[in-house]
Amino acid sequence: MTATAPITQDVLTIPRKLPEGATNLVGLTRDAMHDALIAAGTPEKQAKMRVGQIWQWIYEKGVRDFALMTNLAKAYRAELAEHFVVEVPEVVSKQVSMDGTRKYLMRIAGGHEVETVYIPEEDRGTLCVSSQVGCTLTCSFCHTGTQKLVRNLTAGEIIGQVLVARDDLGEWPIPGAPKNETRLLSNIVLMGMGEPLYNFDNVRDAMKIAMDPEGVSLSRRRITLSTSGVVPEIAKTATEIGCQLAISFHATTDEVRDKLVPINKKWNIKELLDALRSYPKLSNSERITFEYVMLKDVNDSDADAHRLIKLIRGIPAKINLIPFNEWPGSPYVRSDWDRIQAFADIIYKAGYASPIRTPRGEDIMAACGQLKSATERARKSRKEIQAEAGL
Ligand code: SAH
Ligand code: SF4
Repeated sequence: MTATAPITQDVLTIPRKLPEGATNLVGLTRDAMHDALIAAGTPEKQAKMRVGQIWQWIYEKGVRDFALMTNLAKAYRAELAEHFVVEVPEVVSKQVSMDGTRKYLMRIAGGHEVETVYIPEEDRGTLCVSSQVGCTLTCSFCHTGTQKLVRNLTAGEIIGQVLVARDDLGEWPIPGAPKNETRLLSNIVLMGMGEPLYNFDNVRDAMKIAMDPEGVSLSRRRITLSTSGVVPEIAKTATEIGCQLAISFHATTDEVRDKLVPINKKWNIKELLDALRSYPKLSNSERITFEYVMLKDVNDSDADAHRLIKLIRGIPAKINLIPFNEWPGSPYVRSDWDRIQAFADIIYKAGYASPIRTPRGEDIMAACGQLKSATERARKSRKEIQAEAGL
């Protein structure tokens, strides 16, 4: 890849005028689509077949205009257009980092905005998807945490981010051309803006759509949900979605975790680890990822590394070390590289994989924890943030 300066493109599309009261088909589960079609007059006997056909157009072919759904009768297409739309978020701007990372600012209903990031790597392409506009939680090292929660995203807005990214990557099949086996968008991480377990049902429905074999068709092993530790909801990640689980752990004492991840005051380290010890394992080889942000002189000592190993004993785990990504006004500094390496070595010697996450897209503020829709007005003051974090 040639290194060039980052590019910003304003690509706001002109919003389409929707038929009044039209239901968006994007984000409906197969069952919900089935019911919606019947309610709009599709004969019950045909509904299952129609769902299959429409599903393929939307999720396998990337078609949004009923007029182009050519295996449906013309009159039926017109009927569909009266009752339904196939709507995805609008891309307001796209930035491309020097390392190839792409950040999209997307506008959703109500004029709200969320960010979605595509990270190309040699063996995969990962889409980092947002689940909320802002976040109710206030992790003191996270930029999103400085933005008040505006609302949960709908399932359509969550899976819509995937469809829009496929548009931009030019990844829909070309009719007649041989199937492309290498996928640009091969993985999804729910690590964008928001706490996915506070919007569980919509996240679940969207990920079920992503995993549906007839469409986006990603394996459950290629989807990872990251949570700050909403203990009562954690088990549902396995039982109702079946994707991989990552925990934003970040500290080895309650005193420090209370400050970094304030949800710890509600469910502390012990309660979190108990939930992980009884986490329903879907297969023997599956490990829980512990994310650990490296903050200079806060949580990065040898003693922290040793405590971490002791705490997670017995849990099949890998530890993902995240060098802190700074943002304007952030109250922390990234640990030195030799400190991060020393921390990683201790964990590795104890038998755990301890990859250090390479910061991606820093030049366009697309790295972990840097996301925040710049135009969103509901900001917390620095005082509020510090008070909530107990700093
Ligand atoms: N709300 C969820 C998912 C989004 S955050 C959660 O907290 O898990 C995705 C990951 O980025 C989390 O592990 C989060 O702790 C981490 N993160 C947040 N801010 C960061 C920053 N400034 N630098 C590095 N990682 C950060
Ligand atoms: Fe919310 Fe996750 Fe950021 Fe914490 S780290 S404020 S839970 S988005």
